[in-house]
Amino acid sequence: MPSPTPNASSDFPLLDGMSARRFFEQSTGYTYDDFILLPGHIDFSADEVNLDTQISRRIKLKTPLVSSPMDTVTEADMAISMALQGGMGIIHYNNSIEEQQDEVSKVKRFKNGFITSPLTLRPDHTIGDIDDIKKKFNFSGVPITESGKMGSKLLGIVTNRDIDFVQDRHLRLSEVMTTELIVGKEGCTLEEANQILRESKRGKLPIVNQKGEIVALISRNDLKKNRDFPLASKDPVNKRLLAGAAIGTRPEDRDRLDALVEAGLDLIVLDSSQGDSVYQIQMIEYIKHKYSDLEVIGGNIVTQDQARNLIQAGVDGLRTGMGVGSICTTQEVMACGRPQATAVYKTALYAQQFGVPVIADGGISTIGHIIKALSLGASCVMMGSMLAGTEEAPGEYFYQDGVRLKKYRGMGSLEAMKKGSAKRYFSEGDKIRVAQGVSGAVVDKGSIQRFLPYLVQGIKHGLQDLGTRSLTSLHSNLYTGRLAFEMRTHAAQVEGGVHGLHSYEKSFV
Ligand code: 5GP
Repeated sequence: MPSPTPNASSDFPLLDGMSARRFFEQSTGYTYDDFILLPGHIDFSADEVNLDTQISRRIKLKTPLVSSPMDTVTEADMAISMALQGGMGIIHYNNSIEEQQDEVSKVKRFKNGFITSPLTLRPDHTIGDIDDIKKKFNFSGVPITESGKMGSKLLGIVTNRDIDFVQDRHLRLSEVMTTELIVGKEGCTLEEANQILRESKRGKLPIVNQKGEIVALISRNDLKKNRDFPLASKDPVNKRLLAGAAIGTRPEDRDRLDALVEAGLDLIVLDSSQGDSVYQIQMIEYIKHKYSDLEVIGGNIVTQDQARNLIQAGVDGLRTGMGVGSICTTQEVMACGRPQATAVYKTALYAQQFGVPVIADGGISTIGHIIKALSLGASCVMMGSMLAGTEEAPGEYFYQDGVRLKKYRGMGSLEAMKKGSAKRYFSEGDKIRVAQGVSGAVVDKGSIQRFLPYLVQGIKHGLQDLGTRSLTSLHSNLYTGRLAFEMRTHAAQVEGGVHGLHSYEKSFV
């Protein structure tokens, strides 16, 4: 007699593992490392996996990755690079209104191949000043303008050729700069600019407006490296990159909001470590009334009750996570928060009924954590420490014990609060500040332009292993109980990590 074979109908319900509903029905709070996902059946390649998602009701992204609004993570450079790769960067607000507005405008003005905020100097600067810039940034080709700033009349350009053999490094730039300029006109296309560069055999092409003021710079080296960004997150109407920024919920944040909207902001994140407050609800209602087209992300939250209050107030997206960030001490200090896997599952389960996407914020330190967050219903993940060591994060690299590092600090650290971020933690008026974060350093991760594609490829392989071709089908499997979860003991977690080696090296890209 032939041995029996399984039939198709036995595939579902699960033969093995546990559905998310059962896994999370107990009162224990779990975090990403507490569970593992069981593999599915593969009948497609990793490259076929589609990561299309939403960060808010109306904003779609091709990559489910978002950078945190922190002063050591996201300013314009990061936001531009994240958007070019299909994700989004949320610009921090630990700065003046003008500074934050300027960062948002840089993202909105960005044109692939055009450098819109190159370093510029005045004619009375010296060759020594250029030497200093070269040491720090490795540039060559500095435009010289009347005021030393962008948007001012272009007077000349200084390239290596002008200064390489000059002995006196105190000489003013007005004496050495090239004044016979070949320029491109504002509004020219990248192809036209490229053509001029090729014909003129110059390394740099300043772009000027009708008044002769410099508005951008094009570099031949950049053009050689120039790539297309088919995934870029853009406004479908005017094709500009999408920009997001964070603000608080104080009355003065309304002025900040106006300035950001004027700069072309697409999405605002109301930034609070405990978002379920009357202040936030009033702010959501105010924004929805004044700027009905602006997408509003509320948070942070970790419970369904909190989610309900913010959804009722009108948010377009939620940010989930309390006390789980790598630099964060909230749970230790405030005794309040929730393990992140449970927080993401519960809030996303509630919010998806209303079409409100959830961003899983904080506690991501591996690609596996990203895949787990998405498998728990998150539409995107927000990362701080994962991205803080990249070239595009604000701040300079430094060496400690022979390792190249960048500073990374919590917005609730005393250091950041002294600069102004106390509002996020309701302690602005407090005489004694209670820190909810620390200040530290993270290792060099190279450029986002390489690091993000690496993360994306990792996520695609993860989804392939789970047997799901897209985030939509991943979420459908989650809610229909097809996605199989299993608890990991401490020993299982040890087994799942690198073990038993004398030494090893982990490299990122
Ligand atoms: P990470 O990706 O480093 O684990 O976490 C980043 C997230 O931590 C941020 O997006 C933000 O929600 C949160 N965060 C940033 N600074 C602080 C802080 O000082 N204290 C707390 N409690 N959370 C912080």
